[in-house]
Amino acid sequence: MSGTKCTRLTGALMRQVLESVDSVLFDCDGVIWRGDQAIPGAAEVINLLKKNGKKVFFVTNNSSKTRKLYADKMSLLGFNVTEDDVFGTAYCCAMYLRTVCKLQGKVYLLGSNAMKQELEAVGIQQTGVGPDPITGKPADWANVSLDPEVKAVVVGFDEHFSYMKLNRAMQYLNQGCLFVGTNRDTRLPLEGGKAVPGTGCLLQAVEAAAQRQAQTVGKPNQFMFDCVASQFGVERERCLMVGDRLDTDILLGSNCGLKTLLTLTGVNTVADAQEHLKSGRPERQGMVPDYYVDSIADLLPALRE
Ligand code: PLP
Ligand code: CA
Repeated sequence: MSGTKCTRLTGALMRQVLESVDSVLFDCDGVIWRGDQAIPGAAEVINLLKKNGKKVFFVTNNSSKTRKLYADKMSLLGFNVTEDDVFGTAYCCAMYLRTVCKLQGKVYLLGSNAMKQELEAVGIQQTGVGPDPITGKPADWANVSLDPEVKAVVVGFDEHFSYMKLNRAMQYLNQGCLFVGTNRDTRLPLEGGKAVPGTGCLLQAVEAAAQRQAQTVGKPNQFMFDCVASQFGVERERCLMVGDRLDTDILLGSNCGLKTLLTLTGVNTVADAQEHLKSGRPERQGMVPDYYVDSIADLLPALRE
């Protein structure tokens, strides 16, 4: 196979790369869908990969859904998947707390109802989901009542994030609680060049208040890959990571020794990747994909053969 990085994947090279892998990991937003709309051809790509005997998995930094909700969304969009194939940060964060941190105690959660459900599914109780009821004066805020059973602060996507929650998280962290975030994506791109703040913004606010750094579970942390590999026995050298972001998806693939494919239906461009490549800086080379395609639909001709 070609030694050059950031090569357009077409024709014979595409067939060669597909033959060289047994498993494919897909990022979700910007790769198989954009918001609620499937990328045209994505369902056929996934279904054909499976038909051709490949194992297919989904790794998303979005912590707002349970595995079950992702599987439901995928079925609606025509993908032939089960919830066991989906690794979102709500699920992986719960696994991380249970298996790596071996957490004994409750979580103070700045996150979604989906995160609450995934935590409970592995036997971890939480407090904090939903709006924080505290009102009153600054003098009281430093003395809010805290649950003595809380041993970790966990930050995910939380549409009820507020000053009161930030304060409560800080008080727990000042007591020495464990500090875990789902992911660091700062902006979530929308159609027409628009964007909204991502979980990374909330996490940075908590880090600034607590003057501590969180451990994060999501891409590019290898834990996301470890979760898949430990459950399905994925062989790194025969695995392809497909993503639209260089600093999360492609870096995860590089960190784990996977083949990497950038698709141009989401966040980053080939020019972004070339810039990392040309910089010659060793710490940026993990963000250069092996290959790129305009869309994963470009894989269809090779899969239909
Ligand atoms: N986090 C949130 C809250 C999101 O809504 C999204 C995308 O919709 C993401 C992260 C990024 O998800 P992915 O890793 O699938 O690109
Ligand atoms: Ca993405």
